[in-house]
Amino acid sequence: MTGFVFSEKPIGIERGDGAYVYGDDGTEYLDMGASYACVPLGHGHPAVTEAVTEQFEKLTFVQASYPNAARTAAYETLAETAPDPIDKVWLSNSGTEANEAALKFARAATGDSKLVATMQGFHGRTMGSLATTWKNKYKDPYEPLIGDVEFVPYDDTEALDDAVDEDTAGFIVEPVQGEGGINPASTEYLRAARDITEDAGAALIFDEVQTGMGRTGALWSAQRAGVTPDMITSAKGLANGFPVGATLCRDWIAENYGSHASTFSGGPVISAAAGTTVSTIVDEGIPEHAAAMGEYLHAELDAAVGDEVREIRSEGLMVGVEVGRGANRALKELALNHDVLALPAGRTVVRLLPPLTIGEAEVDHVVDALAEVVE
Ligand code: PLP
Repeated sequence: MTGFVFSEKPIGIERGDGAYVYGDDGTEYLDMGASYACVPLGHGHPAVTEAVTEQFEKLTFVQASYPNAARTAAYETLAETAPDPIDKVWLSNSGTEANEAALKFARAATGDSKLVATMQGFHGRTMGSLATTWKNKYKDPYEPLIGDVEFVPYDDTEALDDAVDEDTAGFIVEPVQGEGGINPASTEYLRAARDITEDAGAALIFDEVQTGMGRTGALWSAQRAGVTPDMITSAKGLANGFPVGATLCRDWIAENYGSHASTFSGGPVISAAAGTTVSTIVDEGIPEHAAAMGEYLHAELDAAVGDEVREIRSEGLMVGVEVGRGANRALKELALNHDVLALPAGRTVVRLLPPLTIGEAEVDHVVDALAEVVE
């Protein structure tokens, strides 16, 4: 045993199929966290498996300075499906790198250094993204991080207006806070953020690492809010389980991005996985399905446990059940007694981020399980 960062749970996972994963003793678990929201199409989706296998046999890797059809297709699919006029794509390997790039691009394109971020926000664990992440627990051992970051209360237009000024390079915000406890921002706030940043000449960055890929009922949460930021960052479900990050930009950012690169940017196998995942999500109407299933899940949860829990918050299939201090006990019981794998969001929230392909049977299963656990 040589790993030391993650504490391992007492369930070994061997294989997956759709919304389910299977333990090494054969037990079937409903994966209501979609393995950190990384498999929106479910485990082992045939379209992604086929695209990756085909590309793997053709060419595993070539540096991004040579054009490659799989990478070009991924760029084009992302550009076509991003809100207009966002059409430039930078590919990396993770969510934190996608945000790291966005923060660098904002500074380079504006010539300013100040960054504004939200309280309870989470943007990753490399030095720049970490500096814009709220919780001190994640930051303290590594201080000093990059300076010039101001935190504002989430969903508070007045505070944002006060913080963003002519020295601001960018404002980074999750349209629905994930790690922070599943907190959806109001549409009015996101629209005001657009006006405020534009007036100050600052970049508006939507961190859609968790909200993207159809999870909130639109491919991008920005589309649900009717707001086009200057950059959208993505990762997690972008390649249905393969490690990739994307920073999608408007022209004025892409034309002044400074100097940035990464060895593995846009490798052919990862690009095939990402391009196929995005086009499958769009072609199969997955965001619409997520919206309908999200409504059903919220309503069923409300009916079954609404009186037992403090609050249920959701946007599409991004659901937080505020159970109080017992969230970790609830998660353990869900896993060990009901074969349901869910996630925490802080100490008080049970977070459900299932594969977006789930049906009513899976929803009914998790609702019954939660009802017994919070009873
Ligand atoms: N941004 C958000 C909103 C996230 O939820 C996460 C991960 O949970 C990240 C960024 C960091 O992504 P990664 O773990 O791939 O670096």
